Amino acid sequence: MIATYPFSAVVGLDDLKLALVLNAVSPRVGGVLVRGEKGTAKSTIVRALAAQLPSVDVVAGCRFACDPAAPDPDCPDGPHDPGEQRHRRPASLVELPVGASEDRLVGSLDVERALTEGVKAFEPGLLAGAHRGVLYVDEVNLLHDHLVDLLLDAAALGTCYVEREGVSVRHAARFLLVGTMNPEEGELRPQLLDRFGLTVEVKASRDPDERAEVVRRRMAYDASPEAFVARWTAQESALGERILRARALLSGGVVLPDARLLQIAAVCAGFEVDGLRADLVTANAAMAHAAWQGRDRVTEEDVRVAARLSLPHRRRRDPFDAPGLDEDLLEELLDRHRGDDDPDGGDTPDTPPDPDGPGHQGDPDPGHNSQPDQGEAPGRGEAGHNSQPDQGEAGHNSQAGQRDEPGAEPGPDARDEAGAGVVAVAGVGAPYRVPVLKVPGLGAGASGRRSRARTPRGRATGARVPHGKVKDLHLPATLLAAAPYQKERGRTGAGLLLRGGDLREVVREGRESNLVLFVVDASGSMAARRRMTAVKTAVLSLLLDAYQRRDKVGLVTFRGRGAEVALPPTSSVEAGAARLRSLPTGGRTPLAEGLARAAEVLRVERMRDPDRRPLVVVVTDGRATAGGDVDAAAGLLRGVACVVVDCESGPVRLGLAVRLAARLAAEVVTLDDLGTVVREHRKAS
Ligand SMILES: [Zn+2]
Repeated sequence: MIATYPFSAVVGLDDLKLALVLNAVSPRVGGVLVRGEKGTAKSTIVRALAAQLPSVDVVAGCRFACDPAAPDPDCPDGPHDPGEQRHRRPASLVELPVGASEDRLVGSLDVERALTEGVKAFEPGLLAGAHRGVLYVDEVNLLHDHLVDLLLDAAALGTCYVEREGVSVRHAARFLLVGTMNPEEGELRPQLLDRFGLTVEVKASRDPDERAEVVRRRMAYDASPEAFVARWTAQESALGERILRARALLSGGVVLPDARLLQIAAVCAGFEVDGLRADLVTANAAMAHAAWQGRDRVTEEDVRVAARLSLPHRRRRDPFDAPGLDEDLLEELLDRHRGDDDPDGGDTPDTPPDPDGPGHQGDPDPGHNSQPDQGEAPGRGEAGHNSQPDQGEAGHNSQAGQRDEPGAEPGPDARDEAGAGVVAVAGVGAPYRVPVLKVPGLGAGASGRRSRARTPRGRATGARVPHGKVKDLHLPATLLAAAPYQKERGRTGAGLLLRGGDLREVVREGRESNLVLFVVDASGSMAARRRMTAVKTAVLSLLLDAYQRRDKVGLVTFRGRGAEVALPPTSSVEAGAARLRSLPTGGRTPLAEGLARAAEVLRVERMRDPDRRPLVVVVTDGRATAGGDVDAAAGLLRGVACVVVDCESGPVRLGLAVRLAARLAAEVVTLDDLGTVVREHRKAS
């Protein structure tokens, strides 16, 4: 096995390192959600942290990692005797792949054996493997909704519970949950966001020195992992010891003075977070931070650090809001609710004069105390700069005025892309509720809330002989299948004799999510009569609807000389909304190119995600003043469910969009139709 990259050697990413460390100090912090672009070493650092967690003692032979000192009373491999053999092993790091099945995650209960042999056979899943370690989910936003629910339930309860047809198994599953996501590829539902204790936004550094140092260390590591790791041994063991010390401090009791608790409550209230979970997480994180800093009492600085990590994802109300936390508001709230009954104020009493303590405590890198020069120039990165207060959270916090990253990020800017000439960028109105546009027929795609489909969790519509192991037993059908053979199986008593072949499983029907591909005419004719604002608002409303229905969305636009994919298929509505806001309008109308480009997008997407059925929404007045043959292009979309949103308006109507719809075998709705629902909805309420 290749040596794990040392945690201390990770350059930058101070917030992420701190969030992970706080979780290592206190399991009550509740995990970390890492949001950020690809290629930011997210998984390297998570693996590095796992290697830093203290080893665990486990009962030998127990597949559920029972602690010999306190074995799980429900352990399926138990009960364990106090004298049973034990061994020590590193804390586990389990990765949950996005495509995992439910059985893989929670374990599988063999219903067939339970029914036919009368034994409870349970095969542990990944949750059992992660017990007392780390569960890492890369791209958690792409994980099936249902799996996310199971995962977060287990994380919240510390228990994995599996039930199949009345047979149930329960075992302890306490783990540090770390999820990563690229928000460009889709958001988590807000209620699920809330279940992660902390969130961190990561970005590759824009500082050339720092980037160079990242590459330098990476190359050194790749060239010789063992030698590289050996150079960081001192820092790594110092870090491990510091985590242990902090844990000990915390279990000995860190005081949360009333003034600080009130401050936490005021900050949470000020950011208008729902419920009290945020307060609890912030309090736990603040206590963990105090312990990490070697203090037994929470200070204002701990509250600040905790709030910056625990609140950003909880205050989001609208999928179109930008992430991040308004730091000015945070300072104002802290200031206004400082209180005065805390003798410590915001300072640390028992550490050197520097309010941030020795070295710089905010930096989870403990390397600052040892010599920074460990062979291959760690002097460039944080280790070398430790004496300067410009690294890590210590730098952020002490100089409120110089903060420039989070919160202040400008939104997607329309002006950048508008260009000059006849091209204009129309505004977007407030989105409204739209009627559900569906793909006809019965699909088998990922579950969602749009079109009818066979899904694992819909309502039962029948029974069938299972392919492979039965998961969802249809009891009446199973009994009916067994009944005719009772005599020949030699039944004499009351119990029914079942054989494997009798088993039937439930056929279910629910809703799937789809790929909704918008093909939007952005030509000059649409710009006329200020129609584009209405069109953009309609598309934005449809996008919001797609977000709520868990669809993937894509956006093809056409104008001037051709068509472009303004948004490749993604689950990120934010990205779609941003592209739409800045979408320029003007020029001629190459309708055929728009349709052909849509067909191409679908062809690629079919390879990538074959079960997801597409719905093409063509937003146009039907006019084509440039480009190729519309009939031929429409033919490329044969067999694909299409809807034409007819944007024609004015006293003289040509009915071109209706004609296009006929060629596409598409349903036609008008902009007015899309808006009607909201009016009726308002009337009704
Ligand atoms: Zn056990």
